[in-house]
Amino acid sequence: MTAALLAGAGFVALQAPPATAAPACTVDWTANQWATGFTADVQVTNGGAPVTSWTLSWTFAGDQRVTNGWNATVTQTGNVVTAASVGWNGTLATGASTRFGFQATYSGSNAKPAAFTFNGVSCSGDNPSPSPSSPSPSAPSPSPSTSTPPQEGCVPAATCDSFETQTGATPGGNWAVSYPDCSGAGTAAIDRSVAHSGATSLRVNGAAGYCNHVFVGNTQLLGTAGSVWYVRYWVRHTTALPASHVTAVAMRDANDGNRDLRFGGQNGALQFNRASDDATLPEQSPAGVALSAPLPVNVWNCVEFKVDGRDGTIETWLNGSSVPGLVEDGVPTHDIDSQWLNRTWRPALTDLRLGWESYGEGADTLWYDDVAVSAVRNGC
Ligand code: CA
Repeated sequence: MTAALLAGAGFVALQAPPATAAPACTVDWTANQWATGFTADVQVTNGGAPVTSWTLSWTFAGDQRVTNGWNATVTQTGNVVTAASVGWNGTLATGASTRFGFQATYSGSNAKPAAFTFNGVSCSGDNPSPSPSSPSPSAPSPSPSTSTPPQEGCVPAATCDSFETQTGATPGGNWAVSYPDCSGAGTAAIDRSVAHSGATSLRVNGAAGYCNHVFVGNTQLLGTAGSVWYVRYWVRHTTALPASHVTAVAMRDANDGNRDLRFGGQNGALQFNRASDDATLPEQSPAGVALSAPLPVNVWNCVEFKVDGRDGTIETWLNGSSVPGLVEDGVPTHDIDSQWLNRTWRPALTDLRLGWESYGEGADTLWYDDVAVSAVRNGC
Protein backbone atom coordinates (compact mmCIF):
# COMPACT_ATOMS: atom_id res chain seq x y z
CA MET A 1 0.00 0.00 0.00
CA THR A 2 2.65 2.46 1.07
CA ALA A 3 4.91 1.36 -1.73
CA ALA A 4 2.10 1.77 -4.23
CA LEU A 5 1.36 5.27 -2.98
CA LEU A 6 5.00 6.23 -3.16
CA ALA A 7 5.28 4.76 -6.62
CA GLY A 8 2.22 6.68 -7.66
CA ALA A 9 3.56 9.91 -6.22
CA GLY A 10 6.86 9.32 -7.97
CA PHE A 11 5.08 8.73 -11.24
CA VAL A 12 3.18 11.99 -10.90
CA ALA A 13 6.34 13.88 -10.14
CA LEU A 14 7.88 12.63 -13.36
CA GLN A 15 5.03 13.92 -15.51
CA ALA A 16 5.86 16.69 -17.92
CA PRO A 17 4.64 20.08 -16.84
CA PRO A 18 1.34 21.15 -18.37
CA ALA A 19 1.69 22.36 -21.92
CA THR A 20 1.49 26.08 -22.19
CA ALA A 21 1.13 26.36 -25.98
CA ALA A 22 -1.98 28.09 -27.24
CA PRO A 23 -4.81 25.71 -28.05
CA ALA A 24 -5.40 24.99 -31.73
CA CYS A 25 -8.62 26.90 -31.45
CA THR A 26 -11.07 28.42 -29.06
CA VAL A 27 -14.78 28.15 -29.63
CA ASP A 28 -17.52 30.46 -28.47
CA TRP A 29 -20.78 28.56 -28.74
CA THR A 30 -24.13 30.29 -28.32
CA ALA A 31 -27.23 28.13 -28.61
CA ASN A 32 -30.77 29.36 -28.91
CA GLN A 33 -33.09 26.47 -28.31
CA TRP A 34 -36.73 25.57 -28.13
CA ALA A 35 -38.47 22.31 -27.33
CA THR A 36 -37.33 20.33 -30.33
CA GLY A 37 -34.58 22.27 -31.99
CA PHE A 38 -31.97 24.95 -31.74
CA THR A 39 -29.74 27.23 -33.67
CA ALA A 40 -26.12 27.71 -32.72
CA ASP A 41 -23.90 30.66 -33.44
CA VAL A 42 -20.30 29.46 -33.35
CA GLN A 43 -17.26 31.67 -33.28
CA VAL A 44 -14.00 29.89 -33.88
CA THR A 45 -10.62 31.50 -33.25
CA ASN A 46 -7.51 30.08 -34.83
CA GLY A 47 -4.93 29.56 -32.10
CA GLY A 48 -2.28 28.08 -34.37
CA ALA A 49 -0.46 28.97 -37.55
CA PRO A 50 -2.33 30.88 -40.27
CA VAL A 51 -4.65 28.73 -42.38
CA THR A 52 -6.32 29.19 -45.74
CA SER A 53 -9.14 26.76 -45.05
CA TRP A 54 -10.39 25.06 -41.92
CA THR A 55 -12.65 22.42 -40.51
CA LEU A 56 -14.08 22.42 -37.03
CA SER A 57 -15.35 19.08 -35.74
CA TRP A 58 -17.15 17.94 -32.64
CA THR A 59 -19.24 15.07 -31.33
CA PHE A 60 -22.71 15.57 -29.96
CA ALA A 61 -23.46 13.69 -26.76
CA GLY A 62 -27.18 13.52 -27.53
CA ASP A 63 -29.36 13.01 -30.57
CA GLN A 64 -28.77 16.42 -32.10
CA ARG A 65 -29.12 16.39 -35.88
CA VAL A 66 -28.01 19.30 -38.03
CA THR A 67 -30.58 20.33 -40.61
CA ASN A 68 -28.82 23.23 -42.27
CA GLY A 69 -25.94 25.60 -41.79
CA TRP A 70 -24.73 28.97 -42.93
CA ASN A 71 -21.30 30.54 -43.43
CA ALA A 72 -19.84 27.02 -43.32
CA THR A 73 -20.59 23.68 -44.91
CA VAL A 74 -21.93 21.68 -41.98
CA THR A 75 -22.19 17.92 -42.36
CA GLN A 76 -22.99 15.20 -39.86
CA THR A 77 -22.16 11.49 -39.74
CA GLY A 78 -23.60 9.74 -36.73
CA ASN A 79 -22.92 12.06 -33.83
CA VAL A 80 -19.87 13.62 -35.44
CA VAL A 81 -20.31 17.01 -37.06
CA THR A 82 -17.81 18.80 -39.28
CA ALA A 83 -18.11 22.43 -40.27
CA ALA A 84 -15.89 23.36 -43.22
CA SER A 85 -14.99 26.90 -44.19
CA VAL A 86 -16.52 28.38 -47.30
CA GLY A 87 -14.56 30.29 -49.91
CA TRP A 88 -14.57 33.66 -48.28
CA ASN A 89 -13.91 32.75 -44.65
CA GLY A 90 -11.23 30.07 -44.98
CA THR A 91 -8.27 32.34 -44.41
CA LEU A 92 -7.61 32.89 -40.72
CA ALA A 93 -4.44 34.44 -39.38
CA THR A 94 -3.19 33.40 -35.98
CA GLY A 95 -5.66 34.75 -33.49
CA ALA A 96 -8.29 35.59 -36.13
CA SER A 97 -11.90 34.59 -35.71
CA THR A 98 -14.87 33.85 -37.90
CA ARG A 99 -18.40 32.78 -37.26
CA PHE A 100 -20.84 30.32 -38.70
CA GLY A 101 -24.15 28.90 -37.64
CA PHE A 102 -26.45 25.97 -38.04
CA GLN A 103 -29.86 24.72 -37.12
CA ALA A 104 -30.51 21.31 -35.61
CA THR A 105 -33.16 19.16 -34.04
CA TYR A 106 -32.78 17.40 -30.69
CA SER A 107 -34.70 15.73 -27.93
CA GLY A 108 -33.85 15.44 -24.27
CA SER A 109 -30.81 17.50 -23.34
CA ASN A 110 -28.74 19.70 -25.58
CA ALA A 111 -25.31 20.13 -24.04
CA LYS A 112 -22.54 22.06 -25.72
CA PRO A 113 -20.02 19.66 -27.21
CA ALA A 114 -17.24 18.85 -24.75
CA ALA A 115 -14.38 19.06 -27.23
CA PHE A 116 -13.51 20.36 -30.68
CA THR A 117 -10.85 19.69 -33.26
CA PHE A 118 -9.60 22.33 -35.67
CA ASN A 119 -8.10 21.02 -38.91
CA GLY A 120 -7.84 17.69 -37.15
CA VAL A 121 -5.93 19.03 -34.13
CA SER A 122 -7.60 18.83 -30.76
CA CYS A 123 -8.48 22.20 -29.32
CA SER A 124 -7.56 20.83 -25.92
CA GLY A 125 -7.58 24.28 -24.48
CA ASP A 126 -11.13 24.70 -25.60
CA ASN A 127 -12.06 26.15 -22.41
CA PRO A 128 -15.54 27.34 -22.37
CA SER A 129 -14.37 30.88 -21.95
CA PRO A 130 -17.57 32.80 -21.72
CA SER A 131 -18.34 35.17 -24.51
CA PRO A 132 -18.32 38.86 -23.67
CA SER A 133 -22.05 38.91 -24.17
CA SER A 134 -22.69 36.23 -21.58
CA PRO A 135 -24.79 37.50 -18.73
CA SER A 136 -22.17 36.63 -16.14
CA PRO A 137 -18.85 34.83 -16.10
CA SER A 138 -20.33 32.05 -14.03
CA ALA A 139 -23.30 31.49 -16.29
CA PRO A 140 -23.54 27.89 -17.40
CA SER A 141 -22.64 27.26 -20.98
CA PRO A 142 -24.64 27.03 -23.07
CA SER A 143 -27.28 29.32 -21.72
CA PRO A 144 -29.98 28.73 -24.27
CA SER A 145 -33.05 30.77 -24.50
CA THR A 146 -36.14 28.66 -24.09
CA SER A 147 -38.36 31.21 -25.74
CA THR A 148 -39.94 30.86 -29.10
CA PRO A 149 -38.44 28.97 -32.01
CA PRO A 150 -36.75 31.01 -34.68
CA GLN A 151 -39.36 32.08 -37.14
CA GLU A 152 -38.65 29.43 -39.69
CA GLY A 153 -42.05 30.19 -41.08
CA CYS A 154 -43.76 33.45 -40.40
CA VAL A 155 -44.56 35.99 -37.78
CA PRO A 156 -48.33 36.15 -37.32
CA ALA A 157 -48.98 39.14 -39.56
CA ALA A 158 -46.65 38.06 -42.35
CA THR A 159 -47.61 36.96 -45.81
CA CYS A 160 -45.55 33.91 -46.60
CA ASP A 161 -44.95 31.46 -49.37
CA SER A 162 -42.89 28.31 -49.18
CA PHE A 163 -43.88 27.04 -52.64
CA GLU A 164 -45.43 23.95 -51.08
CA THR A 165 -48.77 24.57 -52.74
CA GLN A 166 -47.29 24.63 -56.21
CA THR A 167 -48.63 21.77 -58.30
CA GLY A 168 -46.76 21.95 -61.57
CA ALA A 169 -43.30 22.53 -62.90
CA THR A 170 -44.12 26.08 -63.92
CA PRO A 171 -44.65 28.55 -61.08
CA GLY A 172 -48.35 29.28 -60.77
CA GLY A 173 -50.87 30.60 -58.30
CA ASN A 174 -49.65 33.99 -57.12
CA TRP A 175 -46.39 33.51 -59.01
CA ALA A 176 -45.78 34.10 -62.69
CA VAL A 177 -42.61 33.83 -64.76
CA SER A 178 -41.67 36.92 -66.71
CA TYR A 179 -38.88 37.99 -68.97
CA PRO A 180 -38.97 41.77 -69.02
CA ASP A 181 -38.06 43.18 -72.42
CA CYS A 182 -36.61 40.03 -73.96
CA SER A 183 -36.07 36.37 -73.19
CA GLY A 184 -33.18 34.02 -73.75
CA ALA A 185 -31.47 31.21 -71.88
CA GLY A 186 -32.69 32.01 -68.34
CA THR A 187 -35.37 29.69 -66.98
CA ALA A 188 -37.31 29.21 -63.75
CA ALA A 189 -39.22 26.23 -62.43
CA ILE A 190 -40.61 24.65 -59.30
CA ASP A 191 -37.99 22.28 -57.86
CA ARG A 192 -38.95 19.22 -55.84
CA SER A 193 -35.43 17.94 -55.16
CA VAL A 194 -34.01 20.95 -53.30
CA ALA A 195 -35.90 22.83 -50.61
CA HIS A 196 -35.17 24.80 -47.49
CA SER A 197 -38.39 23.70 -45.87
CA GLY A 198 -40.85 21.09 -46.98
CA ALA A 199 -40.24 19.55 -50.36
CA THR A 200 -40.48 22.39 -52.81
CA SER A 201 -38.58 25.50 -53.78
CA LEU A 202 -38.27 27.87 -56.70
CA ARG A 203 -35.29 27.22 -58.94
CA VAL A 204 -33.85 29.87 -61.22
CA ASN A 205 -31.32 28.95 -63.88
CA GLY A 206 -29.71 32.29 -64.47
CA ALA A 207 -27.52 32.86 -67.47
CA ALA A 208 -25.08 35.61 -68.27
CA GLY A 209 -26.09 38.47 -70.51
CA TYR A 210 -28.98 40.87 -70.24
CA CYS A 211 -31.57 39.12 -72.39
CA ASN A 212 -31.16 35.90 -70.45
CA HIS A 213 -32.86 37.42 -67.42
CA VAL A 214 -35.79 35.67 -65.82
CA PHE A 215 -38.00 36.58 -62.88
CA VAL A 216 -40.83 34.93 -61.03
CA GLY A 217 -43.11 37.65 -59.76
CA ASN A 218 -45.70 37.84 -57.04
CA THR A 219 -48.13 40.71 -56.76
CA GLN A 220 -49.71 39.48 -53.53
CA LEU A 221 -46.72 39.56 -51.20
CA LEU A 222 -46.01 43.27 -51.51
CA GLY A 223 -49.07 45.46 -51.58
CA THR A 224 -49.73 49.14 -51.45
CA ALA A 225 -51.41 48.97 -48.07
CA GLY A 226 -48.36 49.22 -45.86
CA SER A 227 -45.42 51.54 -46.02
CA VAL A 228 -42.85 49.38 -44.22
CA TRP A 229 -41.77 46.12 -45.79
CA TYR A 230 -39.69 43.46 -44.15
CA VAL A 231 -38.78 40.93 -46.82
CA ARG A 232 -37.29 37.62 -45.76
CA TYR A 233 -36.31 34.76 -48.02
CA TRP A 234 -33.92 31.85 -48.05
CA VAL A 235 -31.67 31.46 -51.03
CA ARG A 236 -29.11 28.89 -52.08
CA HIS A 237 -26.89 29.36 -55.08
CA THR A 238 -23.98 27.70 -56.83
CA THR A 239 -21.73 30.51 -58.02
CA ALA A 240 -20.15 33.35 -56.10
CA LEU A 241 -21.48 36.78 -56.94
CA PRO A 242 -19.54 38.17 -59.91
CA ALA A 243 -17.71 41.46 -60.24
CA SER A 244 -20.37 42.68 -62.63
CA HIS A 245 -23.71 44.00 -61.50
CA VAL A 246 -26.44 41.38 -61.10
CA THR A 247 -29.98 41.52 -59.75
CA ALA A 248 -31.65 38.70 -57.86
CA VAL A 249 -34.70 40.46 -56.42
CA ALA A 250 -36.62 43.28 -58.07
CA MET A 251 -39.46 45.31 -56.57
CA ARG A 252 -41.48 47.85 -58.50
CA ASP A 253 -41.55 51.24 -56.83
CA ALA A 254 -44.74 53.14 -57.60
CA ASN A 255 -43.21 56.30 -56.14
CA ASP A 256 -40.20 56.13 -58.45
CA GLY A 257 -41.86 56.00 -61.85
CA ASN A 258 -42.49 52.27 -61.44
CA ARG A 259 -38.76 51.71 -61.76
CA ASP A 260 -37.33 48.87 -59.68
CA LEU A 261 -35.60 48.74 -56.38
CA ARG A 262 -33.14 45.93 -57.07
CA PHE A 263 -31.22 43.70 -54.69
CA GLY A 264 -28.35 41.68 -56.04
CA GLY A 265 -24.62 42.01 -56.16
CA GLN A 266 -21.61 43.72 -57.58
CA ASN A 267 -17.89 43.32 -57.01
CA GLY A 268 -18.57 39.99 -55.32
CA ALA A 269 -20.78 41.38 -52.58
CA LEU A 270 -24.46 42.04 -52.02
CA GLN A 271 -25.84 45.41 -53.01
CA PHE A 272 -29.01 47.39 -53.61
CA ASN A 273 -29.39 49.26 -56.86
CA ARG A 274 -32.01 51.89 -57.64
CA ALA A 275 -32.92 51.49 -61.30
CA SER A 276 -34.09 55.07 -61.78
CA ASP A 277 -30.66 56.57 -61.23
CA ASP A 278 -28.38 53.52 -60.85
CA ALA A 279 -27.47 54.55 -57.28
CA THR A 280 -25.92 51.70 -55.31
CA LEU A 281 -25.88 50.74 -51.66
CA PRO A 282 -23.13 50.47 -50.61
CA GLU A 283 -21.13 52.73 -52.91
CA GLN A 284 -18.88 50.54 -55.03
CA SER A 285 -15.61 51.85 -53.63
CA PRO A 286 -13.38 49.11 -52.20
CA ALA A 287 -14.18 50.39 -48.71
CA GLY A 288 -17.90 50.33 -49.46
CA VAL A 289 -17.82 46.83 -50.93
CA ALA A 290 -15.88 45.62 -47.89
CA LEU A 291 -18.75 46.73 -45.70
CA SER A 292 -21.15 44.48 -47.56
CA ALA A 293 -20.91 40.68 -47.64
CA PRO A 294 -20.61 37.91 -50.18
CA LEU A 295 -23.52 35.50 -50.49
CA PRO A 296 -22.11 32.11 -49.46
CA VAL A 297 -22.55 29.39 -52.06
CA ASN A 298 -24.00 25.90 -51.71
CA VAL A 299 -25.68 26.65 -48.38
CA TRP A 300 -29.07 28.07 -47.57
CA ASN A 301 -28.75 31.74 -46.66
CA CYS A 302 -31.35 33.74 -44.84
CA VAL A 303 -31.68 37.19 -46.41
CA GLU A 304 -33.77 39.84 -44.69
CA PHE A 305 -34.19 43.48 -45.55
CA LYS A 306 -36.39 46.27 -44.37
CA VAL A 307 -37.49 49.04 -46.70
CA ASP A 308 -39.28 51.90 -44.98
CA GLY A 309 -41.44 53.97 -47.28
CA ARG A 310 -41.98 56.64 -44.63
CA ASP A 311 -38.38 57.80 -44.40
CA GLY A 312 -36.73 55.88 -47.24
CA THR A 313 -34.40 53.89 -45.01
CA ILE A 314 -33.07 50.37 -45.61
CA GLU A 315 -31.58 47.78 -43.32
CA THR A 316 -30.34 44.34 -44.31
CA TRP A 317 -29.45 41.15 -42.49
CA LEU A 318 -27.60 38.13 -43.83
CA ASN A 319 -28.08 34.97 -41.80
CA GLY A 320 -29.31 37.03 -38.91
CA SER A 321 -26.47 39.56 -38.82
CA SER A 322 -26.91 43.16 -39.89
CA VAL A 323 -24.74 44.04 -42.90
CA PRO A 324 -23.30 47.54 -42.33
CA GLY A 325 -22.78 48.29 -46.01
CA LEU A 326 -26.45 47.60 -46.71
CA VAL A 327 -27.83 50.08 -44.21
CA GLU A 328 -29.24 53.36 -45.47
CA ASP A 329 -30.17 55.30 -42.37
CA GLY A 330 -31.00 58.68 -43.87
CA VAL A 331 -27.67 60.19 -42.81
CA PRO A 332 -25.11 60.19 -45.64
CA THR A 333 -22.12 58.02 -44.82
CA HIS A 334 -19.12 58.00 -47.13
CA ASP A 335 -18.68 54.68 -48.94
CA ILE A 336 -22.15 53.53 -47.89
CA ASP A 337 -25.22 55.64 -48.56
CA SER A 338 -24.00 59.08 -49.67
CA GLN A 339 -24.87 58.39 -53.29
CA TRP A 340 -28.22 56.86 -52.39
CA LEU A 341 -29.16 59.97 -50.43
CA ASN A 342 -28.40 62.32 -53.32
CA ARG A 343 -32.14 62.72 -53.68
CA THR A 344 -35.27 62.19 -51.67
CA TRP A 345 -36.58 58.64 -52.03
CA ARG A 346 -39.81 57.40 -50.46
CA PRO A 347 -40.50 54.01 -52.00
CA ALA A 348 -43.90 52.40 -52.45
CA LEU A 349 -43.20 48.79 -53.35
CA THR A 350 -45.90 46.95 -55.24
CA ASP A 351 -44.52 43.61 -56.33
CA LEU A 352 -41.77 41.15 -55.57
CA ARG A 353 -39.83 39.34 -58.27
CA LEU A 354 -37.25 36.65 -57.56
CA GLY A 355 -34.90 35.60 -60.29
CA TRP A 356 -31.71 36.53 -62.00
CA GLU A 357 -30.60 39.35 -64.24
CA SER A 358 -27.07 40.00 -65.32
CA TYR A 359 -26.03 42.86 -67.46
CA GLY A 360 -22.81 41.33 -68.69
CA GLU A 361 -20.98 38.57 -66.85
CA GLY A 362 -22.57 36.36 -64.25
CA ALA A 363 -24.40 33.05 -64.51
CA ASP A 364 -25.80 31.37 -61.45
CA THR A 365 -28.27 28.74 -60.34
CA LEU A 366 -30.40 29.82 -57.43
CA TRP A 367 -33.10 28.28 -55.26
CA TYR A 368 -35.51 30.46 -53.34
CA ASP A 369 -37.73 29.28 -50.51
CA ASP A 370 -39.69 30.46 -47.49
CA VAL A 371 -40.44 33.95 -48.66
CA ALA A 372 -42.08 36.19 -46.08
CA VAL A 373 -43.19 39.81 -46.17
CA SER A 374 -44.30 41.47 -42.97
CA ALA A 375 -44.54 44.79 -41.20
CA VAL A 376 -42.19 43.66 -38.44
CA ARG A 377 -38.97 41.73 -38.72
CA ASN A 378 -39.66 38.09 -39.37
CA GLY A 379 -36.34 36.50 -38.49
CA CYS A 380 -34.77 33.42 -40.01
CA1 CA B 1 -40.41 25.00 -49.51
